[in-house]
Amino acid sequence: MAWKTIEKPRAWTLAPNLLDYEKTRETFSWEEARRALDGLPDGRLNIAYEAVDRHALGSRRDHLALRWLGRSGETRDFTYGELAKQTNRFANVLKKLGLARGERVFLLAGRIPELYISALGALKGGHVFCPLFSAFGPEPIRQRISLADGRVLVTTAALFKRKVAEVCASLPGLKHILLIGEPGEINAIAGTHDFRLLMAQAGEDFAIASTQPEDLALLHFTSGTTGTPKGAMHVHEAVVAHYMTGRIALDFHPGDIFWCTADPGWVTGTSYGIIAPLTHGITSIVNEADFDAEQWYRIVQEQRVSVWYTAPTAVRMMMKVGTDVIRKYDFSSLRLIASVGEPLNPEGVVWGQKAFGLPIHDNWWQTETGGIMIANYLALDIRPGSMGRPLPGIEAGIVRRVGDNAVEEVTQPGVEGELALRPGWPSMFRGYLNDEERYRKCFIGGWYLTGDLARRDADGYFWFVGRADDVIKSSGHLIGPFEVESLLLEHPAVAEAGVIGKPDPVAGEVVKAFVSLKPAYTWNDKLRRELLGFARQRLGAVVAPREIDCVANVPKTRSGKIMRRLLKARELGLAEGDLSTLESQ
Ligand code: AMP
Repeated sequence: MAWKTIEKPRAWTLAPNLLDYEKTRETFSWEEARRALDGLPDGRLNIAYEAVDRHALGSRRDHLALRWLGRSGETRDFTYGELAKQTNRFANVLKKLGLARGERVFLLAGRIPELYISALGALKGGHVFCPLFSAFGPEPIRQRISLADGRVLVTTAALFKRKVAEVCASLPGLKHILLIGEPGEINAIAGTHDFRLLMAQAGEDFAIASTQPEDLALLHFTSGTTGTPKGAMHVHEAVVAHYMTGRIALDFHPGDIFWCTADPGWVTGTSYGIIAPLTHGITSIVNEADFDAEQWYRIVQEQRVSVWYTAPTAVRMMMKVGTDVIRKYDFSSLRLIASVGEPLNPEGVVWGQKAFGLPIHDNWWQTETGGIMIANYLALDIRPGSMGRPLPGIEAGIVRRVGDNAVEEVTQPGVEGELALRPGWPSMFRGYLNDEERYRKCFIGGWYLTGDLARRDADGYFWFVGRADDVIKSSGHLIGPFEVESLLLEHPAVAEAGVIGKPDPVAGEVVKAFVSLKPAYTWNDKLRRELLGFARQRLGAVVAPREIDCVANVPKTRSGKIMRRLLKARELGLAEGDLSTLESQ
C-alpha cells in the first residue's frame, strides 16, 4: 500500500524552532550551536553543568526539573535547585571514596531518582557514567564492568542479590558497590555501602570538575555481530548535540513537559531521558513502571505532557490495545510525538494521527552517533515509513563499498546502499573502548559507516532497509548474536549454536537460537526448556532467546563463520541465496 504524505500546517499556535529546513541547513554551524550553552571558564565544558547548575544558578532554580512517578503511585519532584544539591552530594560521595577523574561509575537500576542523580553527579566529578540495563543477567553485567574496568557500581539491594553477588569475585577492579535500599536490607551485605547513608553524610556544595570538551563522559555498550560488546565512548562536547537536537528535532520550548519512555540502560535513556531536556531547563517526566497503555495515557493527560519520545515497539503495543481506550483521555497537551530505535511502520505513523490527533515523527540514530541524526520535523511534511531528513549540521549519504578500503557514494535516488555520515558532529563517538582497530574500520573514504542499509528518495528523505550485519533489534534492544551463541555453548549439551532475529509483529524481531547437540544428548521438550531457562538466567530477559530449535548442523562457511543469513532464510522459508561458501554438511 502506498502511504500518502502527511502535510504539515503552515500556521502554528506555537512556531516550531525549525521552520525553514533548507535555510537552517545552509546557515547552521556547530560552533554557533555551542554558543547556546554557557560553558565553563577557559573553554571547558561539563555536561552536568549545562544540564543542571546553569539553571540552578539562574532564573530556573525553582523550576521543576524531574518529576518521578513511582511504581506504586508515589511522586517525587526535583527542582533544578534541588537536583543541583543532590548531584553535588553524589559527586562528594565519589570524591570521598577516592575516585579519580575518568574512572567509571556503573549504574544498574530501573528508572529511579537515584539513577538520575548518580549519572549527573558522576559527570560533575569528571567521572564516566556507564549505564546497564536492569534486565541484564549476571553475565552481560560482569562482562561490561570488566571490559570498562568499572570502579564503582550503584545498584539496588535486590538487583545486587539477584545478579551481581555471584560475579563480584571475578571483578577485582570494582572497588565500591553502593546499594540503594532499606538499611536493614543493606547492612547484611558485606563489602557494600549504603547509598542513602553516604548521600546523607555528604555536603551539598561541590566545585564542578573543569572538564575539557574532549574528556570522556559517557560509555555506552552496544553489540556487534562478533566479539565482545563494544564500549562507545562519548565526551562532554556531546552536550552541544544533545542540546541542539532537543531544540531542532524534539522542538523543546521553555514551558515543555517532556516524557522520554526509554530505559536509561539504552543510549536514548541517557541522551534524551536525562541530558537533553535538562539542558533546555524544561521538565522531564520519569516513569518507573513498565509499559501499560492506560497508565501511559493517564500520564500524558495528568502531567500535561507536550513532547513525547517513545519507541516503535511501544507504538505497536498501543495499536494492539486499540483506540477505544484512548477516547477516554485528553491529549490536548501534546504538541509532538516522536519515536526512535527501530523501523516505525507507516501504519504506526498514521495511527498516531487517528489516536492522538498527531502523526508520530520517526527519527534515526544509534549509540555511536550519541544523538538524533535524521528526523521528521514538525514543520516538514511526513512520508510515513521514512526516517526523515538529516539534521542541519549533519551530512548523510548512501554509499557502496568497493573493495576493502573504499566506498563510492550512491547519488541516484531510490538505490539501496549503506547509510553513512560525514564525521565531525559533537556527539560522535570518539572510539570503542580498548579497540582502536574496530573503531578505525567504521571510517572509510571520509565517511562513518553506520552498518544500516537505507535508500534516499529524490527529495532527500531517508528510508530504512535493514541492517548490513546480523545484529538483532528486539523491542529496541540491539543484541549481538555472538554473545548469545557463546553463552549457549557453555551448556554441556550444546555442540554448536547459531542465533538470528526472527520477525515479530510487536517486538520487531525476537531472538531465536538453533543448536546442534553433543552425541550423548537427545533433543526433547525438556532440554529445550532447560536451555531457555539457562540462557534467561545467565543473560537476562533482554538478551536471552525466546525460541530454541535443534538442527543437525549449524551451517557454516568454509572458514568456519556461522551462516546466520542461511538459518534465517530457512526459518522464514525464503530463497537460500548463494551457498558457494557453505561448508559441506
Ligand atoms: P542502538 O545503538 O541500540 O540505539 O541501535 C541503533 C540501531 O537501531 C540503528 O543502527 C538501526 O539499525 C536501528 N534504528 C534506530 N532508529 C531507527 C529508525 N528510526 N528506523 C529504523 N531503524 C532504526
